[in-house]
Amino acid sequence: MVNGSERWGFRCNPELKGAAAVNIRGILMQLIGSVNKDDPRPVLPLGHGDPSAFPCFRTAKVAEDAIVEAVRSAQYNSYSSTIGILQARRAVAEYLSRDLPYTLVVDDVHLTLGCNQAIQTILTALAYPGANVLLPRPGFPFYESLAASINLEVRHFDLNPKKGWEVDLENVEAIADGNTAAMVIINPGNPCGSVYTHQHLKKIAETARKLGILVIADEVYHHLTFGSNPFVPMGAFGSIVPVVTLGSISKRWVVPGWRLGWLVTTDPNGILRKLGVPSLPLPLSPLKCEWNCVVESIIDCLNMSPDPPTFIQAAIPHILQETGMDFFSKIIDIIREAADICCNRIKEVPCITCPNKPEGSMFVMAKLDLSLLEDIYDDMDFCLKLVKEESVIVLPGMAVGLKNWLRITFAIDPSALEDGFDRIKAFCQRHAKKQ
Ligand SMILES: *Cc1c(COP(=O)(O)O)cnc(C)c1O
Repeated sequence: MVNGSERWGFRCNPELKGAAAVNIRGILMQLIGSVNKDDPRPVLPLGHGDPSAFPCFRTAKVAEDAIVEAVRSAQYNSYSSTIGILQARRAVAEYLSRDLPYTLVVDDVHLTLGCNQAIQTILTALAYPGANVLLPRPGFPFYESLAASINLEVRHFDLNPKKGWEVDLENVEAIADGNTAAMVIINPGNPCGSVYTHQHLKKIAETARKLGILVIADEVYHHLTFGSNPFVPMGAFGSIVPVVTLGSISKRWVVPGWRLGWLVTTDPNGILRKLGVPSLPLPLSPLKCEWNCVVESIIDCLNMSPDPPTFIQAAIPHILQETGMDFFSKIIDIIREAADICCNRIKEVPCITCPNKPEGSMFVMAKLDLSLLEDIYDDMDFCLKLVKEESVIVLPGMAVGLKNWLRITFAIDPSALEDGFDRIKAFCQRHAKKQ
């Protein structure tokens, strides 16, 4: 018998290495790995959006109770159906319809393992050979990583910091072509903390209609707004352009570990249920049916994926219907206070500026002025030295597509945030160019 162990060695999927290199987790892991273990102070996480570790961000009691009850009932130990259990899908349809000018039906709703699986599903469904999708810059790099892993081409349009990080729609028109399937908007915005007006969203819808592309609206931060613009769902413009809305309970209920999200077609004209137009000769194999409608393609994709745990789905109607405004306002009040602290403290640090006060989500983009610093050569260098010297984690802008910016997460306990800025200020003073 040939002894294979003498030549052990496996070749792995090369697409994954490139895809992982650009993702936030990879960069955060590198930063966490650089913490100085001799620093007795706690590490302050201003780099990622998960405030659930702080007691002031504990989720609603009704949500916890709903999960416990679902488990105790012993009725939800089975496999789920592919797109989710009926009462949970109905509850999501009702919940989202509250903000829309028309009513969603159960068939519009597909439950997913968090918003991330909803992203994976829609991009996979649209990955026709040669197709491309348009992504915002700065953005949420999971889109880029995922697209790279399925060989879907991406093109970037700019968000304009001089105009509240609105979409540069001329740029969108310039980069779209006949193979463009969709554009993605993230509202409220990660990483910019922007909240788009009704008027701007309508212009986005009109531009997408003109180009004949659908809008993928990542609304994972729905209703997490604390400025002057209220949250308006993109689905409100579903009669202008078909919209695929992605969301989850991860951020509004501060339970990203529960992994319950949704992919919802907000498409009152039923365009996503129409068959695509074949542009190539019909394939020979009937199995290789490339002319699925978008909704069928979504379901095919979900058929091959794991489902959110059944007991979490079972708790969803209670969670969505019974969580009181007192819980939401408490969370919003803490985030608003934290955003104020963040913007005020940024003003004390000459080498970072914040062009737009955040009005939603949990993040702000701050511009780094390297000319004021002595021995820091870019944003990654800044973040690496900051974590080594001060045990503060901040995400370099290059991770979200903007070099020499920083993405700061302010959704942490306000006292920890103050502490974080004391350290950032000390760090920047120490590295300031001597006059
Ligand atoms: C956090 C986040 C997600 C992922 O949400 P999950 O429900 O935790 O999968 C998706 N999109 C954006 C913009 C996010 O910030």
